[in-house]
Order: sequence, then C-alpha cells, then structure tokens
Amino acid sequence: MESLTEQEIRAAFVNCTKGETRRLSVPRDLADRPWEDLDYLGWRDPQAPDRAYLVTRLDGRATGLALRASTPAFGQTRRSMCSMCLTSHTGGVCLMVAPKAGKAGKQGNSVGAYICGDLCCSLYVRGRKDAGAGARLHETITLEEKIRRTVGNVAAFIAKVTA
Ligand SMILES: [Zn+2]
Repeated sequence: MESLTEQEIRAAFVNCTKGETRRLSVPRDLADRPWEDLDYLGWRDPQAPDRAYLVTRLDGRATGLALRASTPAFGQTRRSMCSMCLTSHTGGVCLMVAPKAGKAGKQGNSVGAYICGDLCCSLYVRGRKDAGAGARLHETITLEEKIRRTVGNVAAFIAKVTA
C-alpha cells in the first residue's frame, strides 16, 4: 500500500471519538515501515497493549479501526487461525473486537474477528515472517491471489464495523 502520514492515520478512524483519535499512539517509525509489503498498517499501543489499531486504504482512502485485543490465555497451546490472512499460530491469534461506528457503537455494539496478535498478516502472507511449521496452508493459488484475499477479508471486516 501507499505509505500513510500520521495526519492521515489520525483522520482515518471510523469507530472512535475525535478525542480518542487525537490521543491514540501512532507508531513513530512510520518512515521505516515496509509499506510496499503491507496490506494494512497494524500496531499495538505500547502503553496499553490491549489497544490495537489497523489502518488500510480502501479505494485509496485511509480507513482505520480501533480494536480491543483479548490476551491469549497463559500457556495456550491450541492452534488457531487468523481470519484475515489464514495463518495458524499457537497462542498467537487474538480475538480483536471493534466497537461499531456511529450510533450502534455508542449503544455498545461491536464486531469481533480473530486476527494475528502482532497484526503482521501482510508479512505472513508474503513469507517475510514465519509463524512456524504448518502455519500456512499449502494452497495452489498465487501470492497475488492470497494478497487479494487478505485485502478482501480486511475490507469485509471494516464493512461490518461501519454497517
Ligand atoms: Zn493474520
């Protein structure tokens, strides 16, 4: 994806208040992110690791979600699969919950998805990060198709939050 500026990132969130958007922690190393290999930018707030953020471009427009991440139970050994990039991890997939945008969110409605806890889906898909033996399914589709599928899954998740 095309790189994002801090300003674009702060303006991108669809499911938090203006105050939250102003205060949320944006990564300081934006210039060093591997943008050409990212389908979305994802990060955790270092001060509050249960707060996670995901920003992507939908039709070129920066669109972001604020998420609450569940902590995997200590010693969790069950393998689970990320619903965005379909990588399986042992204890490395978190249930991420996004309050819905607008009125529905204020009424407490939210949407959840199982996502790679480190929000590095793009790197797992491209083989730039390894989640261990058996983490990736053997598939006959091309890398481009896997990327397109991941992008589609992220867009579908955002669509559920803004619906
Ligand atoms: Zn993933």
